[in-house]
Amino acid sequence: MSTLINRRQALRSMMGLGSALTALAVPEPMTAATEEHPAHPVAPHNVVAMLFDSTICTGCKACMPACNEANGLAPDTLLSGGIWDMPTDLNAQTKNIIQLYQEPQGNGFAYVKRQCMHCLDPACVSGCPFGSLKKADWGAVTWNSSLCIGCRYCEVACPFEVPKFQWDSWNPKIVKCEFCYDQRLKKDLQPACTAACPTGAVIFGKRVDLLSQAKDRIAAAPDKYFENRAYGEHEAGGTQVLYLSAVAFEKIGLPKLSSVSLGHYATKVTSVIYKWLAGPLLMAGVLGFAIKKNWDRHETERIKHEEETGFPDQL
Ligand code: SF4
Ligand code: SF4
Ligand code: SF4
Repeated sequence: MSTLINRRQALRSMMGLGSALTALAVPEPMTAATEEHPAHPVAPHNVVAMLFDSTICTGCKACMPACNEANGLAPDTLLSGGIWDMPTDLNAQTKNIIQLYQEPQGNGFAYVKRQCMHCLDPACVSGCPFGSLKKADWGAVTWNSSLCIGCRYCEVACPFEVPKFQWDSWNPKIVKCEFCYDQRLKKDLQPACTAACPTGAVIFGKRVDLLSQAKDRIAAAPDKYFENRAYGEHEAGGTQVLYLSAVAFEKIGLPKLSSVSLGHYATKVTSVIYKWLAGPLLMAGVLGFAIKKNWDRHETERIKHEEETGFPDQL
C-alpha cells in the first residue's frame, strides 16, 4: 500500500576478493558523496567489484541458484515445463545467468556470466527521472521501488541491456542485480554468486585490487587472454564487473563501447535541462539515440526468441 502511495507521490511530482566460500570482509562504505549524482567517473579506493575469468568457469551454474536464493527469486521454469531453472537470458526473475558461447563447427566454447555491470557512471542512474536508481555505498547500483514510476528509461538507456520489467505483475518492478547490497554487502558478506562459485571463476574484492589481479594473470599467461586486457576497465567509463576471456569479448556478449560513459553525457545535458526547468520529458530526447538503438535490438531479440521457442518472451 505504501508503495502505491509513494508512486502517486512520484507521479504528482512528475506533473511538477577472494574465492572463499564464507563471509568476506566488505570494505568500509564510500562517503556521503556517493549519494550524490553525478556518480563516479573515477573509482574511489573502496569501490567493490567482481572479476569473472571465463577461462576458469566450468559452467556449473552454482552461482545461479545462489543468486535466486539470496534475492528471493523463483526459478524460471517456463521452457522446462515447470521443472528446471532454464532462463535463456536475464529476465524479470533472473538477475544472474551463465551463458554458453560455442565457436562454429564446435571449435571451442566459453561460458560467460551476465548480471548488472555496476557501471562507475551508470546510464540507468542518469536516465531515471526520479532517482529510483542510484549509486549506493561501495558503488553498487541499487533500485528504490517507492520512487519508480515504471517509465523504463533505465531499461532502454543501459548499454548492457540489464534492467528488466515485470510485465506480468500488477505492481511491476525493475529487476536487476543490485550487488546483493541489502542482502549481503550491508551484512559484511560478499555477494551470493561469488561466495557460491566453487572454482574461483568469479571473485569479489575491491575494484583496484581485482584490476591488479587481472593484470597479473595476463602477465603470467600473455597468450591466453583476448587482447591482453580486462573488459570493464574502461568500457562505458569503467564498470565494477571485470572480465577476462580467451574468446573475443563481443562474441560472448560484451559490447564494444567507448571509454566515455553515456551517463557522463546524459548528466551534463540533464543538468542544463533541469536548470532551465524543462523537465524529464526533454531528457528523453537527449537519450533518444540510445533508447532507439537499444529498443530496436530488444524487439529483434524478443521476436526471434518467440519464433524459435513458440513461447512469449519475458524480457
Ligand atoms: S549495466 Fe546497465 S543497469 Fe547496470 S549500472 Fe550499468 S547502466 Fe545501470
Ligand atoms: S551480486 Fe547478488 S544479485 Fe548480483 S548476480 Fe551476484 S548473487 Fe545475483
Ligand atoms: S559457479 Fe563459478 S564456475 Fe560455476 S558457473 Fe558460476 S561462475 Fe562458473
